[in-house]
Amino acid sequence: MPRSDEDFMREALLEAEAAFAIGEVPIGAVLVYKGEVIARAHNLVETGSDATAHAEMLCLKKGAAALGNWRLIGATLYCTLEPCPMCAGAMIHSRLERLVWGAPDVRCGAHGSWVNLLDAGHPIHQLSVTSGILKDRSGDLMRAFFKQRRQEKEDGKIV
Ligand SMILES: [Zn+2]
Repeated sequence: MPRSDEDFMREALLEAEAAFAIGEVPIGAVLVYKGEVIARAHNLVETGSDATAHAEMLCLKKGAAALGNWRLIGATLYCTLEPCPMCAGAMIHSRLERLVWGAPDVRCGAHGSWVNLLDAGHPIHQLSVTSGILKDRSGDLMRAFFKQRRQEKEDGKIV
């Protein structure tokens, strides 16, 4: 039976939860090709001391490795948060067919929250985008993470 956008977003949310568990901002992504998850990743910015280690970037790289091709034609990326401009650019470079994202990112979102690169009509590649899938679960996870971080700061656990 074909799986729905919600099904795959739940897989991405599992990745976001895995990020939360190791103290990373809880953002997850999965790449789906021919109805199967071929790559999954979560944010690793803190772990890798790497500002580019966003879930989407890592997932695109893993997906290209799995397919043996940087062109992700026919693939769909599910990410729990609206992608930033770096990741949106990488999606265009990858020739990703479709993007499905969850909660908006008011600070860095590149699908309208901050800038809109994905509806800008790129001359070479245009991907189709669906937004807001399971956005409450994704947003709740982000809010819980930052609430916990604020609490830890107040308690003097982190400075
Ligand atoms: Zn990003």
